[in-house]
Amino acid sequence: MDLKHIADEAGRDLETASAQDILRWAVDTFGDGFAIASSMGDGLLAHLAGSVAPGVDILFLDTGYHFAETIGTRDAVASSYDVNVRTVLPLLTVQQQDEEYGAQLWDRDPTQCCAMRKVEPLARALEPYVAWGSGVRRDEAVTRRNTGVVEWDFKRKKVKVNPIATWTQADVDAYVERHGVLVNPLAYDGYPSIGCAPCTHRVAPGEDPRSGRWSGQAKTECGLHV
Ligand code: SF4
Repeated sequence: MDLKHIADEAGRDLETASAQDILRWAVDTFGDGFAIASSMGDGLLAHLAGSVAPGVDILFLDTGYHFAETIGTRDAVASSYDVNVRTVLPLLTVQQQDEEYGAQLWDRDPTQCCAMRKVEPLARALEPYVAWGSGVRRDEAVTRRNTGVVEWDFKRKKVKVNPIATWTQADVDAYVERHGVLVNPLAYDGYPSIGCAPCTHRVAPGEDPRSGRWSGQAKTECGLHV
């Protein structure tokens, strides 16, 4: 199976397809070889996937630095939606990392911290799969503007499926309201983009939603989607 060819072709063919049809294509094409990564900012992708592909694997990277609300959202999604939430842990606990690299590595070298607590764990978790899904959207950041609904993940040599890549924040809000989707409570408390607690700050209304991530640092992406 030439995965890159499949990804390129599907990216063109499915550009205007609905998120449900994109997910259906992924499950029909890859079966159990498809999983979805979720940061549990909300349960939208899990809700969508559960309605199209009951029992699909949802990967949650537990960095050890999450807000309690994010862990609570994961648990609520796992018990409410027809999906299989799998929690993925880094190789080192926070304490082991502190002992080996010093405390608060996220402040001194967030790229290395993300590499150990997000990038490596996702790569390890994705080993059994040939394709993975994410909730990345084009309107979230300049770095995401060219996101394909299906694309070739060159770094991981896998097909990447972004079913809501073309959605706007208004589309997300409408879907959440229509279906009563679970949302991380922090989203209603000034955190429109939610990552690890030490690296996520409140943003003022009208500010760039992602400006609260690694604020004060040049970093804008954790490395999962670049
Ligand atoms: Fe570490 Fe911050 Fe990256 Fe989380 S977001 S893994 S705390 S640098």
